Amino acid sequence: MDAALPGLPTECKPCHTMSMAVVANLARVFLPVVDLLYPPRCPACGAAIAAQDGLCLECWDSLAVLSSHAPDVETVATPVYAATLYNETSRCLVLSYKHGGRIALSRLLARLIAARMPDVVLQKQQPLLIPVPLHRWRLWQRGFNQAALLASDLAKLGKGEVLVDGLVRNRRTPSLGGLGREARERALTGAIALNPARAQLIAGRDVILVDDVLTSGATSHACMTALRSARPAHLAIACFARVEGIG
Ligand SMILES: [Zn+2]
Repeated sequence: MDAALPGLPTECKPCHTMSMAVVANLARVFLPVVDLLYPPRCPACGAAIAAQDGLCLECWDSLAVLSSHAPDVETVATPVYAATLYNETSRCLVLSYKHGGRIALSRLLARLIAARMPDVVLQKQQPLLIPVPLHRWRLWQRGFNQAALLASDLAKLGKGEVLVDGLVRNRRTPSLGGLGREARERALTGAIALNPARAQLIAGRDVILVDDVLTSGATSHACMTALRSARPAHLAIACFARVEGIG
């Protein structure tokens, strides 16, 4: 973790909280203590494992990791970079990440997604990584936007630049599980919109929408429609798991 090199500021000037460099250093110092108090467990099945931030062998085996760099499906004519297919193991991982307080899993999930994404290091302008937005109530309940955290980790892995508020969610939407495609799209109509303050920034840029799971495609479709109104050069989707057969 070279962020904690000597000479770097240890305190955020405006708010006087500890900088990320110090937090990262503390986390490293206390990792052995954390391991002692909370022996590393596989976030998908709970089995004991050798180190934090990993999976047990059985779960690695059952994760349907997709291996080529090429986008694997075309959803609404948009390339999708998915790390895995949605199965029992990826579902458990995502639940553990989103609802089980395992925020640190973001790094592992982002690494798997990044392996599927094109190399952008030599591009003049990095793509914008725009997370699927959460409504502020959901954000308040959960404490974090899982898609925004993934986008931020993808940026650290050199896959683009995060634009966290390119899209906004104007109203809460009911759970989309169990609804048919048309009902899902109706439920989302008008719920997700372009942030007008970011429209100029998005115009002419390559944009990658980031989410944890691509299920029906209704949410990503609503996001794509909103993003298209800002006239980006190119749109793609990056996600950890996608349901088989979306198209
Ligand atoms: Zn496991």
